[in-house]
Amino acid sequence: MRVSVEKSHFFKNEIEYLGFIVSRGGIKTCPDKVHTMLNFPAPENLYSLRSFLGLASYYRCFIKDFASIAKPLTDILKGENGKVSANQSKKVKVTLDSRQYQAFDTLKSILISEDVMLAYPDFKKPFDLTTDASNHGLGAVLSQDGRPITMISRTLKGNELNFATNERELLAIVWALKNLRNYLYGVKHLNIFTDHQPLTFAVSDRNPNAKLKRWRAFIDEHNAKLHYKPGKENNVADALSRQQVNLMEQDSNSDCATIHSERSLTYTIQAVEKPINCFKNQIIIEEAENPSKRTFIVFGNRTRHVIHFRDKNTLLGTIQDLVNTNVVNAIHCSLPILAHIQHDLVQLFPNTKFKYAKKFVTDIFDPNDQMEIIITEHNRAHRAVQENVKQILNDYFFPKLEKKAKEAVGNCKICSKSKYNRHHQRHKIAETPIPSYLGEILHIDIFSTDSKFFLTCLDKFSKFAVVQT
Ligand SMILES: [Zn+2]
Repeated sequence: MRVSVEKSHFFKNEIEYLGFIVSRGGIKTCPDKVHTMLNFPAPENLYSLRSFLGLASYYRCFIKDFASIAKPLTDILKGENGKVSANQSKKVKVTLDSRQYQAFDTLKSILISEDVMLAYPDFKKPFDLTTDASNHGLGAVLSQDGRPITMISRTLKGNELNFATNERELLAIVWALKNLRNYLYGVKHLNIFTDHQPLTFAVSDRNPNAKLKRWRAFIDEHNAKLHYKPGKENNVADALSRQQVNLMEQDSNSDCATIHSERSLTYTIQAVEKPINCFKNQIIIEEAENPSKRTFIVFGNRTRHVIHFRDKNTLLGTIQDLVNTNVVNAIHCSLPILAHIQHDLVQLFPNTKFKYAKKFVTDIFDPNDQMEIIITEHNRAHRAVQENVKQILNDYFFPKLEKKAKEAVGNCKICSKSKYNRHHQRHKIAETPIPSYLGEILHIDIFSTDSKFFLTCLDKFSKFAVVQT
């Protein structure tokens, strides 16, 4: 190893490294860079917007809920994916609306005004993890003795946006534990603070939601104590959040889903990805000015009920008449409506199966149209049947979809020409060879019981075993 004298500094109390000031006490943002930020003009074109976000996100670990705050700005870049070259992007005009401007200002002021210092972790002390989920993003602060060690955040994506509040809170914890693994793995004392009720964890055995159970098991592995901190008290590590960090939360208008999801905590009715069209008994519920109830037979053997209701009390009576106790009953409605009726339904029909179908897609009756849909989808990327079926079900439904897709894919000339073995080679289970000297073959494994972890090591030759907690 060589050391360059010019590049070396000795006997310094603090040093600038990659734009951060590293000192004995911790890490903070570099004043030079922050000064640049202070003078940063409001972006007028795509180019300056990109560079602002680049600069700001460099310090994202200092900014609680960075992703949420920056969302109005990152939204502008959405779908752009860097397609516009740096040169051209100077010509693409960007005009910030008031929300975007506020986001810009908030980011700037947090970076400028707060001389926040991140502490180094001390693995002998307990860690505090504070998580938060808003309608747009997830955030987490890892701290010790009230001093932040690191902060992470990201926006919600895809179907996470449909999650109920408590699901998001759980997601935030799981996500934070995964992302802060290098700090938290094997830590003995961890406190998790969430601003959702401990109720969040009352995931009962009756609850069929496998995802929540998996999450719960994952959280349990970390041996953490869970604490409930209502939003207003949730100011751990908030040298930063004195700023209007929860800006985004306030102006959103999804109160309805939030309130009702309190009741839907146990997810009595399991949600499925398949569209409601797949099911034998389909109940579609919408709120409307003029109440009505219509029943159709679709594809000869599926019953579809469409209910428009105004008064929630009579709604339940209407549904009761439509439930078919012999088949799986699929329900399609908004989440607040589901939250309102699911407990009653399960109580009224304890032995009947219900599913919540998020999607209601177009039925395709004409066999020619069906074929065309299959072929168009398949030709897009020549993917396997299962993949084609999954994609098609996002928009369309018709019976025997899988069988028809199989046929079409089987007839695809391009696929048959370029067939390759998609299956993994399975390793045969065989006896391990017999070692001829000490230490030639060691079996190392980790197992846990009663949330204690044991590392075991066994020498195959001597059968000498060591266990360490
Ligand atoms: Zn093909």
